[in-house]
Amino acid sequence: MSKIYNAAIVGFGGQGHWHSFLLNKSDRINCIGAYDIRAERNEVAANEYNLHVYNDYEDMLNDEKVDIIIVATPNDVHHDLVVDALKAGKNVICEKPVAMNSIELEDMIKTAKECGKMLMVNQNRRWDEDFLIMKEIYQSADLGPVHRIERRVHGAHGIPGDWRQYPEYGGGMMLDWGVHLLDQMLQMIPEKLKKVYCTLSYVTNERCDDGITVISTFESGLVYVVEVGTSNFIPLPSWYMLGRDGTAIIRGWGAQDGEIVKSTGPDGEVVPVLTANGITKTMAPRRDDTIEHKPLPTVDKCYGVFYKNVADVLDGTAEQAISNESVLRVMRLMEAAFKSAKLNEAVDFE
Ligand code: NAD
Repeated sequence: MSKIYNAAIVGFGGQGHWHSFLLNKSDRINCIGAYDIRAERNEVAANEYNLHVYNDYEDMLNDEKVDIIIVATPNDVHHDLVVDALKAGKNVICEKPVAMNSIELEDMIKTAKECGKMLMVNQNRRWDEDFLIMKEIYQSADLGPVHRIERRVHGAHGIPGDWRQYPEYGGGMMLDWGVHLLDQMLQMIPEKLKKVYCTLSYVTNERCDDGITVISTFESGLVYVVEVGTSNFIPLPSWYMLGRDGTAIIRGWGAQDGEIVKSTGPDGEVVPVLTANGITKTMAPRRDDTIEHKPLPTVDKCYGVFYKNVADVLDGTAEQAISNESVLRVMRLMEAAFKSAKLNEAVDFE
């Protein structure tokens, strides 16, 4: 029978709840306790989730029943909480962004190695259905050679009124959503990333980026645009992939809300389209008899893969599904993007 591991959560806000909720469904990891610096959050942990609440973080680290600490606090305290847990002999799951910068992350990775303990970052959006669908389309070469990918998340509320508004807590949209979308990009494209150009927006927030656009150019010339916006009252498609022979789109959050449109053969005669002030052949759409509309491929939903992998790593039967080297690459990419935004020019990456 497989060993069952015990986890305890530090930081019992939105994401702490989510871990606790998901772990209720895991047959390999039990969530047994929590600790938050705010008393009302501890009450929720005890009363709604039936968790043991620790007096403080040290109390949690001293509990011999705990195998895994899950760090779900604001970003500025990840480094110290993770390092303390590793040094106390615990394995660690840490929320994204794992750290404020690559210097902190290098120190965390070094400490994990020295202590012989697991440090795994919750880059959970590697298993998002929409991402897996687009990755499948990219890998299948169904669209012919892909030359451009656009990936967006758009909201219209600015940055919510909490620590995400303040740089000293690790706020801003690069560290919040950029980290997911850039991670997905590096997981999808197995090439060297040569150039990065980034702009940041400050529409509703003066001190933290409330929007980002990162344009990455890969070795083959493929251009990949990542955009996070918080003042987008009309959102643009979440995925848009352009190949020589076709286009794929996912429009919103629903993974199946999209399609593939592909060429079925030679273009034939182009029917001009009437524009405001004249006609154009160049911008005319394809005739219906030269294209086909295809549904998006289906992919496995992959629920629970992350925690199962954590348990398998601790059993010694699997490698980390999220390697710390891959997380460090994303952290360095975000730093390159910040540098580009500051210089207002493209910067070399790899
Ligand atoms: P939150 O503000 O809802 O919760 C954070 C909690 O941490 C608060 O209750 C706060 O009181 C507590 N806290 C702060 N400092 C602490 C300390 N030193 N010790 C103990 N508790 C402390 O924030 P959130 O939305 O839950 O985000 C928490 C982390 O999870 C962030 O790193 C965020 O980026 C990440 N997150 C990840 C995802 C994902 O999909 N992977 C989604 C949301 C948030």
